[in-house]
Amino acid sequence: MKRAAVISVGTEIMKGKMDDTNSTFITRWLHASGIYTDWRLSVKDDIDDIVNAIKFAIEADIIILTGGLGPTEDDLTRDALASFLNKELVFSEELWENDVTRFYRVNKIVPIPESNKRQAMYLEGSIPLRNEVGTAPGLYYKDAGKVFVLLPGPPAENQCMIKNYLADRLKEDGFIDGEIVTDIFRIYNTGESAIADLFAPVKSDCNIGYYFTQEGWIEIHTSLYSNDKSEAEAKVNSTVKALKELLDKNDFFYTENIELSKIVLELFKSRGLTLSFAESITGGNLSGEFIKNAGASDVLSGSVVAYSNEIKKNVLGVKTDTLEKHGAVSEECVREMVTGLKKVMGTEVAVSISGIAGPTGNTKEKPLGLVYFGFMTGDELYCKKEVFFGDRARIIRKCINYVFMELVRHYK
Ligand code: ATP
Repeated sequence: MKRAAVISVGTEIMKGKMDDTNSTFITRWLHASGIYTDWRLSVKDDIDDIVNAIKFAIEADIIILTGGLGPTEDDLTRDALASFLNKELVFSEELWENDVTRFYRVNKIVPIPESNKRQAMYLEGSIPLRNEVGTAPGLYYKDAGKVFVLLPGPPAENQCMIKNYLADRLKEDGFIDGEIVTDIFRIYNTGESAIADLFAPVKSDCNIGYYFTQEGWIEIHTSLYSNDKSEAEAKVNSTVKALKELLDKNDFFYTENIELSKIVLELFKSRGLTLSFAESITGGNLSGEFIKNAGASDVLSGSVVAYSNEIKKNVLGVKTDTLEKHGAVSEECVREMVTGLKKVMGTEVAVSISGIAGPTGNTKEKPLGLVYFGFMTGDELYCKKEVFFGDRARIIRKCINYVFMELVRHYK
């Protein structure tokens, strides 16, 4: 397996003003191509710093630098590589005509700034990588079984260059000879160690990774690097099957790696069910999440954002007595909310939700994160109670996930 280093160049990155998303993208692409990234470095637009970064990364087979290929004085990545390799940069008419000015001509931009000539400087022995969406050509330089690559900073430009030119060149030169086949699925309501223990008996050539996400579920990545794609797919599939059998046996809840709201949409669509929400704590976000999916209107008829007690009473028919006796965050309240909602909306399934997102409004009896849910299908009504931890945004997020999870579990 080849090893890589990714160096992002830019003073803005070093000042914390710009996120280095290029390195993430490139590392992910390298990984999917079966190349492991040993180092990721960031440096400012300074020749010495860039040269030092290259020296640091020199053990890697592939050294990719992004950024600093622009037309201005502080774009020095090309110069730094030339200095490191002890090679000359010479102006190339061919690069100027075919690459740098082509962009200006195609987009009818005149006059072409003289400063762009920096981008037509050719490094002796290198192969230019065409930039189809900008002016700065990339560069590919192979030397003694090692390759140096320069890519422009703008993500659209380097991603296009990777896809259209760099990937093929690395394949041709034997740096990429296989790929990683990966399957990803999600497990909810559990911890990594419980899953690691459960999966311990599964013997497989595949790598099984557990990633706890911000959203609260665990992603299981089952992957295998191979130059025989179909063989790798078969091995990954049989491993995933074995893992899921264990999950089924032990009653774990898992789904494909797609949005829960999308799974609910497909499920309800296939069963011809309509849905409505009465949202207090989530204030419309539950519906907002659902309608991100195309075709949501086939299932979601409507919702009531019942944030105040007045709306709970006037629109959903919650009794004053219920609110006075039990409060808005209570099983009694969500029960009446969902009953009223179902009457107003006439949907097959109705859901109500009321809780305390904080940071105020909690008491000893009703702690922060206390949430009640009401679920109603036909005449069947049941309620759930949960206490979620986290700040306001996380509690709201967990409420949304909980509703979708419950709908998948119940209607699957
Ligand atoms: P240009 O020809 O546009 O000047 P360049 O190769 O010189 O390209 P930079 O000047 O370093 O690239 O960066 C241009 C823009 O590209 C930045 O303003 C930023 O929007 C984006 N960019 C640069 N580096 C990165 C990075 N590491 N991650 C994400 N975006 C980046």
